[in-house]
Amino acid sequence: MANEVCFRTLHLERPWSLKSYESVGGYSYWKKILEEKIPPEEIIEQLKVSGLRGRGGAGFPTGLKWSFMPRNAPGQKYVVCNSDEGEPGTCKDREILRNNPHQLIEGMAIAGYVTGSTVGYNYIRGEFYEPIARFEAALEEARAMGILGKNIRNSGIDFELYCSIGAGAYICGEETALLDSLEGKKGQPRFKPPFPANKGLYGCPTNINNTETYASAPVILEKGGQWFQKLGTEKSGGTKLFCVSGHVNKPGVFEVGLGLPFTELLSLAGGVKDNKKIKAVIPGGSSCKILTGDEMLKVTMDYESIADAGSMLGSGAVVVISEGTCMVEILARLAEFYYEESCGQCTPCREGTGWMARALERILHGQGKIEDLENLERVAYNIEGNTICGLGDAAAWPVQSYIKKFRHEFEYMITNKRSMCAA
Ligand code: SF4
Repeated sequence: MANEVCFRTLHLERPWSLKSYESVGGYSYWKKILEEKIPPEEIIEQLKVSGLRGRGGAGFPTGLKWSFMPRNAPGQKYVVCNSDEGEPGTCKDREILRNNPHQLIEGMAIAGYVTGSTVGYNYIRGEFYEPIARFEAALEEARAMGILGKNIRNSGIDFELYCSIGAGAYICGEETALLDSLEGKKGQPRFKPPFPANKGLYGCPTNINNTETYASAPVILEKGGQWFQKLGTEKSGGTKLFCVSGHVNKPGVFEVGLGLPFTELLSLAGGVKDNKKIKAVIPGGSSCKILTGDEMLKVTMDYESIADAGSMLGSGAVVVISEGTCMVEILARLAEFYYEESCGQCTPCREGTGWMARALERILHGQGKIEDLENLERVAYNIEGNTICGLGDAAAWPVQSYIKKFRHEFEYMITNKRSMCAA
C-alpha cells in the first residue's frame, strides 16, 4: 500500500520530519534536477501523462497550467501555493502541512524550476497554528540542508521559499484575492483575464496551485506519470485525498485512487453512524450541488462520475448526511456562511447572498411564505454566472439543489412552522 500512495510518510514516526521524508525517497527528484538539469518540458510531459488535475476544486490539468508560464521571458516570476483551506468540510491541506511539509516544499521547488520562478510563497490560512509551525520548521530544515536559496548546490538554480499567513477571510482562498492579500491589499478577487500566468503577483507571471497539487508532484515525477495515472481512471488519473465527515463513524482524510466506488470510501470512514440510511451527501465541499443518498450510492469518486450525477468532485470534501437531518437548517447555515464571506464587490453576490440568508432564516423561524421558495430560486439563478468570482455560484448552487431535491421539507416547514425531521 505504501508504494501506491503519494503521501508515503504517514505510517512513520514523526512523519513531518526531514528524516522521515528522506527515508521514503524525499527530495530525490529535486536533487536530480539540481544535478542533471532535467529539461522542464520533460517534467511537464510527465505531469500531463499522470493526469494530475488541480486538487483545490477546479480540477484544471496541472501539466498544462505549468506550461502556460512564460518561463523564458525576462523578469521576475513567482510560484504561489494556496494553503488558505477554508471550504466547509475540507480538511486535507492542513494534514499535508502538518504531516508532509517537506513534500510540499519539494513540489514548489520543482514548480519554481519548471516555470522559471525563483521565488515562491505559501499562503497559509491564519488559523492553522500547528500546520504553520510545522511548515516553517520544515523550511528552516530545508534551508539548513542547502536545497533552497541562491545557486543551490552550485547548480546555477535559485529558488527561495517564504511562508505567508492569512487573516481568516474565506475569499482569500480565491486565487486572485489571495494575490491581492499577499501584496498587502484587501483580499478581493480580480477580473480575469488577465490570468495570473500572465499578470499575477506584483503584476508578474505567477503559477498558483493548491497544496495537494504541488505536494503530489515529487512522487509522480520520481515514479513516472504512468504510475500515477494508472492508480485512477482514464480521465481522472491518480490518487486523491478525500475528507469524509458528517454522520460517519470514523471521519478522516483518506488517500484513495480516483474511481473508487463511494460505497468503499464510506466503508473506510466506518460506515454511517447508528446504521442509519444516507439521506444526502455533499460530494466535494459545501459549494457543490447536493446529491441524494440514492444518487451518491451509484457514483465512483472521480471527476466524471460525480459530474454525471449533477455535482462536482470539488476539493474532495465529502459530507455524509443521514436520515432525520433537517435540510432547511443545513441550507440556512450555508447561506449565512456565504453571506458573511462575500467580499461585496459585485451586486448580485453582495445583495443576493444576504437576501437568501434572510429568507431562509425567516423560513427556519416559522415566518416563511410558500412564494419565498420561488423567490429563493429566482435570486440564486440571477447570481449564478453573473459575478466576478466563483463565490456567487458557490452560494447559488446549494440553494438551487436543496430546494429542488428536498422541496417537500421546505414546504412542510413553511406550512407547519416546524421541521418534518423534528422528533
Ligand atoms: Fe466578491 Fe462575491 Fe463578487 Fe466574488 S462573487 S467578487 S465574493 S462579491
